[in-house]
Amino acid sequence: MSLADIQERIASAEVAAGRAAGSVKLIAVSKVQPDARVEAVLQQGHRLFGENRVQEAAGKWPAFRERFDGVQVHLIGPLQSNKVNQALGLFEAIHTLDREKLAKKLAGAVQARGACPELFIQVNTGEEPQKAGVLPAEVDAFVKVCREVYDLPVSGLMVIPPVDEEPSLHFALLRKMAERNGLANLSMGMSGDFERAIALGATHVRVGSAIFGERMKG
Ligand SMILES: *Cc1c(COP(=O)(O)O)cnc(C)c1O
Repeated sequence: MSLADIQERIASAEVAAGRAAGSVKLIAVSKVQPDARVEAVLQQGHRLFGENRVQEAAGKWPAFRERFDGVQVHLIGPLQSNKVNQALGLFEAIHTLDREKLAKKLAGAVQARGACPELFIQVNTGEEPQKAGVLPAEVDAFVKVCREVYDLPVSGLMVIPPVDEEPSLHFALLRKMAERNGLANLSMGMSGDFERAIALGATHVRVGSAIFGERMKG
């Protein structure tokens, strides 16, 4: 696999789903990858990346941003409220807004900065106890709290489906929840299932190993 292969598969999936060319954004998930692999993808002109740890992103992206124009990095992993300020300096988007305490922290920090990253609410569609995300039954109320209490412009929803279930059911559920809340963006689909996610309306797919190769485990 390579960046070009994945871009081609995304383009085909857009056509198959009757969607506009370019309507799906490819987030190249560079977590844990060696810098040389990330640099190779930057050299090919790609500019949108995903990281799941604030600390790791802080060690990697400021230097790349100095060398490459137009880089955007999205946080796709958990955000502790004590790292909100640091995160706002590192990421153009946060996909993991999942609790009121974090919304409150973000609201204060966003006001102080006068700029807000793009925000996705993570939904735990599989209701897995160990997984982050708002429960499906609480999504509508949480969207409302973010908007009305904290004045946060929520842009979309994000999901990581349970590993042992058909992801399409979760993608369809996420889409329904987004539609009824007037949210335009859907962050869903990874290396193994991004085409299915695009068929069900994904606007942002998060693809790591299929672009960069397997990550070091552990
Ligand atoms: C690591 C990660 C991905 C990418 O997974 P791949 O299977 O390597 O494509 C996508 N989303 C999140 C939230 C991740 O942590």
